[in-house]
Amino acid sequence: MPRPRKHRRVWHEPLPAIFKPVGVPLRHLQTITLLHEELEALRLTDLEERYQEDAAEQMGVSRSTLQRILTEARRKVTQALVEEAALHIEGGTFRVPTVRWQCDECGHRWEIEHGSGQGTPARCPTCGSATIRLRRMRRKKDLRGF
Ligand SMILES: [Zn+2]
Repeated sequence: MPRPRKHRRVWHEPLPAIFKPVGVPLRHLQTITLLHEELEALRLTDLEERYQEDAAEQMGVSRSTLQRILTEARRKVTQALVEEAALHIEGGTFRVPTVRWQCDECGHRWEIEHGSGQGTPARCPTCGSATIRLRRMRRKKDLRGF
């Protein structure tokens, strides 16, 4: 029986997307699916130019796992470009870390998904106090099959 796959951390906002050649309807194209964790591996190593050890740590996987994800991701992207296929970014086994906040005034606690574009809150959403602080990072949100 295969081991259940561990969730990988994806720090970049995961939005489903399709990239395709111009002028050809999607239904006539072969579709290649790039998983969110594969895109994240590409982002960390090829775009941010991090060392593989660092990228692996960011994603919460071993270096050999990262290497495997990266190889597959590069193969898929290259195949899509060379064979003029549609590249569909969706799915995967990953979690988006959440950032936790706490209000010192009323004690209210809340979470914001990392990379959700909501940024740093200025005030407590309950009492409106500005005396808020960051709590520990936690990886909670499960977006499997996003
Ligand atoms: Zn408050």
